[in-house]
Amino acid sequence: MIYFDNAATTKPCKEALEAALSCAENCFGNPSSLHHMGVKAEEIITSAKKTVLKRLNKEGEIFFTSGATESNNIAIFGTANALKRRGNRIITTAIEHPSVGEPMKRLSEQGFEVISLKPCDFEDFEQAVIDAADEKTILASVMAVNNETGFVINTKKVYDGIKKKNPNCVVHVDGVQGFCKLPLYGDTVSLSGHKIHALKGIGALYKSKNTRLLPIAYGGGQQSGLRSGTEPVELTASLKAAVEAYPEAVTKFSELRHRLSGHLERLDRIIINSPENGIDNILNFSVIGVRSEIMLHFLEERGIYVSSGSACSKGKISPVLSALGISRERADSAVRVSFCRDNTEADVDMLAQALEDGIKRFRR
Ligand code: PMP
Repeated sequence: MIYFDNAATTKPCKEALEAALSCAENCFGNPSSLHHMGVKAEEIITSAKKTVLKRLNKEGEIFFTSGATESNNIAIFGTANALKRRGNRIITTAIEHPSVGEPMKRLSEQGFEVISLKPCDFEDFEQAVIDAADEKTILASVMAVNNETGFVINTKKVYDGIKKKNPNCVVHVDGVQGFCKLPLYGDTVSLSGHKIHALKGIGALYKSKNTRLLPIAYGGGQQSGLRSGTEPVELTASLKAAVEAYPEAVTKFSELRHRLSGHLERLDRIIINSPENGIDNILNFSVIGVRSEIMLHFLEERGIYVSSGSACSKGKISPVLSALGISRERADSAVRVSFCRDNTEADVDMLAQALEDGIKRFRR
């Protein structure tokens, strides 16, 4: 099996599995309990928070969540509710994951002025985001890396530019596809364990010390009241282990991407949808004349797993792809390949051969 769908999810690494199992067996106490078992569990959570903060290279607080969907919701609604008396303008992008896009729709329905910018409309997208923020803007929410094409937004430039114009505007970064791969700058940053070889069901929200968020759910007051509910100690242990096992830099990604690009250049009527300066571990391309699902299942028959995530749904091009300037024809035949550190050059060669065979068989 060759797994090239790592932007969707990754295989849990050995370290994450062992950490979760050992924690479940030996440290299953409730972190809020006052006895020794509780203290041991609490220590695991505290230490996992330190590991995540260190990897983010930040000071501030970490809140563990069920995943980035929850982290994004807490950051967005938490900021809007905390700051609604100060202003009602919010800046975001048209290429966000639904876990940002859908909360933005709800806020718009509630009367917030939500400005959603499309990268295809601007030469310098970061500058466009900065320009859109004014003194009434309470929140700017941008993703660090787009999950469909690997389009990168320079969060340092956005953060610095917005803070210079309006220091009170909260900058939220959906860092899911960038965590452990790129530096992430934001007052709040969300991340997800299952994209970096931890187990599913664990995510985190980073919050800088001076950022105020209101909770979106109420309960036992765990995690400073921002995220009530018994912390999933086993899952936090898996996240800590996965972060520690994730190399500082994976040079392999650019080698794999380069090799795949070379193969694709030799094939006819392939269009690369990922930007040249996109993240190295995601390559999205269109095999013109072969529909995405047809190619996906053909590759699957050979044990190769990719994504057609970008394909049109219900006859309509995904708004994310159209905001990235990708045409209907290209979207229809888009294939997303996303690498992890276990993929090899031989895997890439197998994929290229299978693509060539698929084209011979199915191209109209
Ligand atoms: N944001 C981005 C950019 C993503 O790729 C994903 C997962 N596809 C999410 C948010 C949601 O993460 P989770 O699955 O942890 O809820």
